[in-house]
Amino acid sequence: MALMVDCRLLLRKVKDLRSLTPRRNRVKEKWAATRVKHPPTRLALQHFDATYSGQLGKIWPSVRVALLSERKYGALLNHFSNHNVLEDLQSQGCSDFISYRDEEAGELRCTNEKPEVGCVEESTADSDGQQPSGLQLSPNIQCFVFPRGDVTRFQPARPDLCGLLSHYLMDAASVLPCLALDVQEGHNVLDLCAAPGGKTLALLQTQSISFLCVNDASVSRTMRLRKVLNSYVPKEFLTNEKLRITSFDGTQWGDIERNTFDRVLVDVPCTTDRHSLMEDDNNIFSKNRIGERRRLPQLQAELLLAGIQAACPGGEILYSTCTLSQSQNQSVVEQAVFVARENHDIQLQVVSLRPLTQMFQNTFYFAPDLRLGEMVLPHLTSNFGPIYMCKLRRLT
Ligand code: SAM
Repeated sequence: MALMVDCRLLLRKVKDLRSLTPRRNRVKEKWAATRVKHPPTRLALQHFDATYSGQLGKIWPSVRVALLSERKYGALLNHFSNHNVLEDLQSQGCSDFISYRDEEAGELRCTNEKPEVGCVEESTADSDGQQPSGLQLSPNIQCFVFPRGDVTRFQPARPDLCGLLSHYLMDAASVLPCLALDVQEGHNVLDLCAAPGGKTLALLQTQSISFLCVNDASVSRTMRLRKVLNSYVPKEFLTNEKLRITSFDGTQWGDIERNTFDRVLVDVPCTTDRHSLMEDDNNIFSKNRIGERRRLPQLQAELLLAGIQAACPGGEILYSTCTLSQSQNQSVVEQAVFVARENHDIQLQVVSLRPLTQMFQNTFYFAPDLRLGEMVLPHLTSNFGPIYMCKLRRLT
């Protein structure tokens, strides 16, 4: 009875409030028939609850709450810009997570790692069989983050006198695949799925690439990528023969250019878990995109295989996604490695990224005991990711 009285009171208050709003400013509610009954964000959450509770077990609830909360950004410094924001960022209390890494932990792990070269079968069965990476991190990639638990937002980037912006805001965990790729002086590099260009920008910061090929199948997204590059990189750099921007279907790359690149980044389209939970627009869980979503693992495996073929023998390939999904991560790597060996006579080795995760364990929350590759898990105190990455080296 008390509850009914409360409800009536509440309804009357709502009516009173409506009468306070001038008629012309009132928004008519959508008719029930046209309102989306199952918004894609809700479908995504149902799907993730069903799959990730099994996959992640008891850590899923904390990952879930982080995924549903505001993400954290990092500010990638743009060394092409003369606008020095370093002191500004430091005075706000943030620091470059790459130079403040946990050196000791990284080195400790490197020396403890098994030195022998493991073939892929061993590595997939037991991650300890993975080959240590011997990473040399580029000192030119700098990415500033606020400390753990601090959710302060960054100021927008400002242009220098030439119009080049000082920093690029991105998920700081997205810088990790670029560090893991370990670009060295004189390398030829392919970024197979590059738009909108955050990782391309990070790779360009190394300033050691001899030739960079930047590709994305989507023409409109390639245009967006060009815009980003125009805002961050000097014109003369964009027009010289060191950089090529293309818009091909990456799955066909193996037919276009084989055995060519020292490093290949394969940052594939995926269910983009955070976006799928937060935005109904352009959501892969929309009813009309079911087929596209189901075909994702096949597309991802074809892209990775093309990246493997594009790398030269001895070259390294970095596969990455921004989903927690095992079927888009580990299973894709296993499938591509199998097809490369069986159909193309290419032998690969999984390169351990454990030294990298040990170095950055103070900044990111990494998934424990992944059987293949490494993954940044979203966590309320360091709400980056998800980012999955797996590194392969071509032996033949
Ligand atoms: N690496 C980008 C960055 O850091 O900004 C993000 C890449 S996004 C995760 C995946 C990209 O793959 C999308 O821009 C999409 O257009 C592109 N893509 C989808 N299918 C492709 C294909 N068959 N070949 C090449 N690119 C493709």
